[in-house]
Order: sequence, then C-alpha cells, then structure tokens
Amino acid sequence: MDLLLCNDDGIDASGIAALEEALAPLGTVWVVAPESEQSAASHALTMHKPLRAHRHAERHWAISGTPADCIYLGLNNLLPGRPDVVVSGINRGSNLGNDVFYSGTVAAAMEAALHGLPATAVSLHLEPGDRERHWATAGGVARRVVEGLRDHPLADGVFLNVNVPNCAADAVRGLRATALGRRRYAPRVDLRTDPRGRHYYWIGGSHQAFVPLEGTDGPAIEAGWATVTPLRPDLTAQTALDALRAWSDA
Ligand code: MN
Repeated sequence: MDLLLCNDDGIDASGIAALEEALAPLGTVWVVAPESEQSAASHALTMHKPLRAHRHAERHWAISGTPADCIYLGLNNLLPGRPDVVVSGINRGSNLGNDVFYSGTVAAAMEAALHGLPATAVSLHLEPGDRERHWATAGGVARRVVEGLRDHPLADGVFLNVNVPNCAADAVRGLRATALGRRRYAPRVDLRTDPRGRHYYWIGGSHQAFVPLEGTDGPAIEAGWATVTPLRPDLTAQTALDALRAWSDA
C-alpha cells in the first residue's frame, strides 16, 4: 500500500521518524510535512504568501506551510497517485477532547478525510515530567490502526484520532474505542513588556483535568489505555437543526 505521512511538529521531529519506521513494512511511505513546527495551526491553509516545497530525500518533502497545506499539496501535486491511507503524527503530546479543534496533527488527517481518503492522527500522551518518550509504543499502535483501517474500512469522511500512553508497549492495557471527551486548560495569559515599552502576550495554559465523561478519550488514557476515536468533519448539531426548523422559514 501507499502511505502518506504528515505531522505538525515539523519534518525533523522524532515522532514522524518513528511513524515512518513503524509503517514502512506495510508498503511505500511518502512524507510531506511542514519544514517548521506548526502545532496548534489547526486547519489553516496558506493563501496569502507563496508555498515552497523542498525535496528532503526520495519521496520526502518539507513544505513552508501548515499540515493542511502539506496534505493539499501532497494529494494534488507531489504524489504520483492517491495514497491508500494518510497518517499524521506521531505528535509530541496528546490530542484529546477539545484539542482536536486546535491540533494541526488532527487537521492533516481531517484534510485527507475531506479528500475521501482513509486517515488517522496519532499522538503520544506525555505527562509533565516525562523524560523518556516511547515513540515505538505509539508506532506499534499506529501500525495496528492502519491495518484496521485497511481491513475494516470506515464510512466515507470518517477518520480516526489515536492517542497512546507514554510507556513500554507491554504496559499499555490495550486499544480502546472511545468518544471525544472534554479537557480543561488553565486560561493563562501572560502580559509582558518588550524592550521598547510595548505590551505583548503569550497565551495557552497547562492541562487542568479531563471532564469525567463515561467512555471518552481522556479518562481512558489516564487509565492506561491507548484510545481510538472516530471523528468526522460534519459538525451539524442535528437536534438543534430540528429545533431551528420550528422558527425558521424552511
Ligand atoms: Mn504538535
């Protein structure tokens, strides 16, 4: 099979190298990844400045843009044909609950799903103070999930979000199917002053807690499971649609 790999940590990140190593036995690997870190880039496309693609190695390109740019360029220009599966990661840090709306890793998988391709995002769940990073554990889970996508195709437009505990492979309880949960972050804003006396900000607080919702991703990973969550780009709130029909015109 032909596999297209992407990430949001950049083409030189350890996670995408581990992903390539884990998936290479399954077929031909293509890598189209950002040349610099794009974490939290979400689904942005670069439309107001030129995009450049640098060939790193055979079938490897670094792109001067976002993860979604990489998938767009990979599918529409760089690859000779459609890949069988798109895999994004392995991200340095988990993408659980509402992280999926900010994550460039997840957006790359979603962009592939919007093109009608099977896709998954894979992230390694790091706890504060973790020094060792068990990329190979996440690589093994990624391989199992890609084989699952191959053997049990999902409905068109559905893609997967996978998170893996940062531990040895034999310490993971298993792979658990979960729903998307909710995660709370500290609402942190640092106001600082630059050398010319002007104010600037740094935003983004640390993880506080996963909301304890039964069957969701965050609590499952804290209990030692690798998680796999099916996602889809259709965000329509179906029950609200019915309610809106009660007062709209059609
Ligand atoms: Mn990242």
